[in-house]
Amino acid sequence: MSTDQSLHRIAQWLREASSAVAFTGAGISTDSGIPDFRSPGGVWAKNTPVYYQQFIESPQARNEYWRQKFEAHRDFQHAQPNLAHQLLARWESANTLRGVVTQNIDGLHQAAGNRHVLELHGTAREVECIDCQQRFSNDLFMDEFARTRIAPFCPQCRGRVKSATVLFGQALPDAVWRQSIDWIQNADLVLAIGSSLVVEPAASLPRMAHERGAHLVIINRDTTPLDQRADAVVRQSISETLQQIDRLAFPS
Ligand SMILES: [Zn+2]
Repeated sequence: MSTDQSLHRIAQWLREASSAVAFTGAGISTDSGIPDFRSPGGVWAKNTPVYYQQFIESPQARNEYWRQKFEAHRDFQHAQPNLAHQLLARWESANTLRGVVTQNIDGLHQAAGNRHVLELHGTAREVECIDCQQRFSNDLFMDEFARTRIAPFCPQCRGRVKSATVLFGQALPDAVWRQSIDWIQNADLVLAIGSSLVVEPAASLPRMAHERGAHLVIINRDTTPLDQRADAVVRQSISETLQQIDRLAFPS
């Protein structure tokens, strides 16, 4: 199938869908200036990730974790949603899209106006205490780290605080995971956008959708392990692709 044929077909599925879900990964945010952490120059090319167990056990690991989080905050706190985020928000408000399941922690879907967002890997916009579970806005902690260069403590219980994101070696948030499965199992169209579809268990969601009979569409710069099973695959700019689909599905 040519790209053009694929786009027409996707547009038709989107127009006819009654419970479409978008599943997004890092690729949707690269146009907002946030590099894919797996790509050359991405976060993990420069930094060794701190695993959850290390974070729990070691003050040094917590300092290193906060150093990395502080750098990311400094570099990306002003990132803005791009056209792709905006189109998904528009589709949701037009009831074309049920919502977004995302692997991203950048909060850009909400910033674009999406109200139904399931963040599989949590959010970098908040800080949580792993001892008393209290959540806080992250700004104060970033300011404190900028001064002290030492991992901050929970203002409530003096416990260990981390970004409200899922660390390597940490389980996905249970309620979010179950809600995602519910959306996916009841979807008639799943648009997998900007995800390499290799990080488990998150990547099993599009596979599940396909097995349940939903149309599975993959829009990503690179090939993915699910391309062979997808009903349509588009390998070009994400913003451009969504804009083309939008024009075909909803001509003004
Ligand atoms: Zn606490």
